[in-house]
Amino acid sequence: WVELSTGAFWTMLLSGEHLLDELTRIMPAEVLAPEGSVWDTPAWKTNLKAACGAVCVSRPVWGYDAHAAMNTLQKHFKTTTLEGFGFDGYDESLSSAAALIEYLNETQKTSLAHILSLRKFDRRDHMAIDGTTLRCLEVHRTLRGNQRSGSLLACIDRTCTGMGARTLERWLAFPLRGYSAIVQRQDAIEELMQDRRRLESIRNILSGVTQVDRVSSAIMLGRVRPRELLALGQTLNALPDLVGLLEGLAGELLCGVRPALEGFEDDARLILDAISEECPNVIRDGGVIAARYDQELDRLRSIGADGQSWLSAYQQRLCRATGIGNLKVGFNKVFGYYIEVTNANADKVPGDFIRKQTVKNAERYITDELKRYESEALTAAERAKALEVQLFEQLRIKLSSGIERLQGAASALALLDVLAALAQLAIERDYRRPVITQDNVLQITAGRHPVLAEQLRQEFVPNDVCMSSTDDRLLIITGPNMAGKSTYIRQTALLVLLAQTGSFIPAQDATIGLVDRIFTRVGAADELSRGLSTFMLEMVETANILNNATSRSLVILDEVGRGTSTCDGLALAWAICEHLALRVRCRALFATHYHELTELEALLDGASNLNVAVREWADEVIFLHKIVPGGADQSYGVHVARLAGVPREVIDRAKSLLPTLQAHVAKGLDMPELARRAKQSAAQMGLFADPTQKIIGELKHLDLENTTGLAALEILRRLKEMI
Ligand code: ADP
Ligand code: MG
Repeated sequence: WVELSTGAFWTMLLSGEHLLDELTRIMPAEVLAPEGSVWDTPAWKTNLKAACGAVCVSRPVWGYDAHAAMNTLQKHFKTTTLEGFGFDGYDESLSSAAALIEYLNETQKTSLAHILSLRKFDRRDHMAIDGTTLRCLEVHRTLRGNQRSGSLLACIDRTCTGMGARTLERWLAFPLRGYSAIVQRQDAIEELMQDRRRLESIRNILSGVTQVDRVSSAIMLGRVRPRELLALGQTLNALPDLVGLLEGLAGELLCGVRPALEGFEDDARLILDAISEECPNVIRDGGVIAARYDQELDRLRSIGADGQSWLSAYQQRLCRATGIGNLKVGFNKVFGYYIEVTNANADKVPGDFIRKQTVKNAERYITDELKRYESEALTAAERAKALEVQLFEQLRIKLSSGIERLQGAASALALLDVLAALAQLAIERDYRRPVITQDNVLQITAGRHPVLAEQLRQEFVPNDVCMSSTDDRLLIITGPNMAGKSTYIRQTALLVLLAQTGSFIPAQDATIGLVDRIFTRVGAADELSRGLSTFMLEMVETANILNNATSRSLVILDEVGRGTSTCDGLALAWAICEHLALRVRCRALFATHYHELTELEALLDGASNLNVAVREWADEVIFLHKIVPGGADQSYGVHVARLAGVPREVIDRAKSLLPTLQAHVAKGLDMPELARRAKQSAAQMGLFADPTQKIIGELKHLDLENTTGLAALEILRRLKEMI
């Protein structure tokens, strides 16, 4: 995949089943597929569109030929081998890369000169996350409204540059899996946090930094705008200060940033000398190149600007030479420049004056010198503009020879920006550094939901997580609706995800055993657009989890089984728990309204019950949002309904039904008996009121004397309807 604005170009080798998940992270605008392949079907195209909004374009199969692929890529990169990019020989990803280059060559009218390297993306270096999980955890966008605001990304983004923001977005989509890669980032963040003044200064400089990656692409492609170049010059000019601030930092990542930002002094001077500080954004208007950059340009400009002073100097010179005191040099749109001498002085006119025009009481002349000046003055502005274009282009070509270094600086700035942003975030929110281990544990003390904790008006109640590979692998969380079950399990997934991007996390302390993959099945989001019923979708996603989770995965299940009848759903939920705890043996959190599942604690090795504490107070229920050991005994659904403003009668009716229905579940009442009891209680509540009184009342007031036969029939029909 290629990012045209910056020229970044990557490959990833993967099997087809993972393709959609990876595409959801990459979020391409267009996807190419070999014609006639399984990726070139209407069904796939619909899926693709739904998952990431991308359009699928069919491409000829021969474009993917192995031999042709190597040729295409070598020709593009002007190399004889791709070893320099880490490719020992051919692999299938290179076919896709070549097909992409061919496609761009065909469709992009500009050159691809800014695509300078190909980077290998290894899936094994990254935590796997499927599209559903990213969506459910609201990492980049919210579930409702699909907005950035309210997402994890928006909530933690403290970057100062566009480059940094895009990098952070990628970090969240591709958390790491390797221990040392994570610790390297943590070290850098910690080091930056230690000196707050330095951090602030770094971020101050970064906020003035332009999008070096995009500007360098624009330079390469010949479409850089004057103000972009000026901004680049200012950015490069600030780099020495930035490098100075990085002095003394020892972490591996930060040490790598420094050399990439050094040695741009000449480029900075070149740009700032060349481009005027008040340059317009288009070159053809002129005024882009600074004064004193080019002598010829200065001269041409002075002709235009100093025109008046040259003319008056010339006039004075002529007056003196001819002795004609009232000689005038002027300009007329039709006749151009002229020297005017009144008829009284006609005898003093020198021989080299050429007559041009006669006016009242005077003659107008021209000289060779004035003619020369005229032709210069009339074209000077145009020539100056043309020269500016030429100078600008020369500057652009000069800069494009150092484009690789500029791209390197862009990456270094992006990295520094993200690290500094995460350091800033950790300071602002008191995030702590989690301990990363290879063991299958997950221990979080006083963890907070990164987004909700900031949004809530009341205090957020922190919660602990304690899981290991042997004990408490499967946590079953029961409790009333609205108690905080979903929040707790999502929060756990989010903290693991954040920890594996290298970030600090909102918790007092934490030990995170590396996770190879996070799976989430949350809620019953209706995805009718994908043509699947809610329950079908729920099962498709659950199947994905059960088939693909490993002992190193983290699985978050929220109310799975809710989409079908109680018994069905309970049976499925039960079997899923068994499978996770005994077969997969992964770390899993299962939030459920099925109290029956709490029985699993006794039956399953590694399963353990949690519930959300509730305090009952008179007729009120107060949710404490505190996760405590043990299973919940009641669901308090009726209380929640009342809190939500369901009408009093419905609440009372539900309350009266509760004992009957509980008896139905517990004692196995048959359906007719259930219906009889329900009707009986309804009658007691006066739900089905007796119409007799009303009918008698109507009859009493009936004036038979004045009722026609037809009207009587109508009254009779109405009375009958009331029964
Ligand atoms: P459940 O899944 O148990 O129905 P949710 O997790 O959806 O409940 O939480 C319901 C609401 O309770 C949240 O929207 C939030 O306002 C509040 N809440 C949840 N957890 C906490 C917490 N730890 N501290 C404070 N408020 C919380
Ligand atoms: Mg919930």
